[in-house]
Amino acid sequence: MALFTTFSLFQNQPRLVQAFSTRKGGVSFPPYGALNLGLHTGDKRENVYKNRALYFEALHIPQDKLVFPEQVHSDCVKVVDKPGKVSRCDALIARNSNLFLTIQTADCFPVFLYDPQARVVGIIHSGWRGTARNIVGKTIALMESECNVNPERIIAAIGPGVQQSCYQVDDQTASHFNERDLVPDGIGHFKLDVQGAIVRQLQNAGVADERMERDTTCTHCETDLYYSYRRDGHQSGRMMGVIGMVEN
Ligand SMILES: [Zn+2]
Repeated sequence: MALFTTFSLFQNQPRLVQAFSTRKGGVSFPPYGALNLGLHTGDKRENVYKNRALYFEALHIPQDKLVFPEQVHSDCVKVVDKPGKVSRCDALIARNSNLFLTIQTADCFPVFLYDPQARVVGIIHSGWRGTARNIVGKTIALMESECNVNPERIIAAIGPGVQQSCYQVDDQTASHFNERDLVPDGIGHFKLDVQGAIVRQLQNAGVADERMERDTTCTHCETDLYYSYRRDGHQSGRMMGVIGMVEN
């Protein structure tokens, strides 16, 4: 019944709160069962609000300190300093304590960034479109230029998403990616490794391998644990990733 997972690299960071939700422990009914945290999914709004209350209570995060981006599969990154909704972007950066950044996914990859010395956090929604535009590299570049972040100090984690074995794309989508992220899968089709592409974007941005962690769980395969848009379509719920710093 664990409501969320986290990463071992973040666990010895006393000021940091980070989590990625599962679909367990909520109140939504099938096909949204149970911990659906996405409002625009066809699920009952009151159940989504109850689920959010359960999730954030478990994390000891006050809901009036949350930041919600209006995700549009872009490469737009914004530095934020107050809670609430943020228009049209897919990555957020914060320097303030007591501010908690969120993103919602169901197959796309959540990426979490933390520089413990500069005290800066970042969160990224990196599906194939964002990854094709290197939203990870652009987020780290903005953390460097605006927030005195040193990429060598960044701790980075990539959460669960749809893995290569379950992710067939057409040659149009494949054309945006390096050959090493593609395996041919019939005429005009490929299997795409989005998470592998994200790892290389982190490496190219200067993040050290030993400060990088990935959860290779496949959202499409793990029916009981995660929602998957590719599997469940318009009746798919959403997971929510969150990261933020608490006051000393
Ligand atoms: Zn799979």
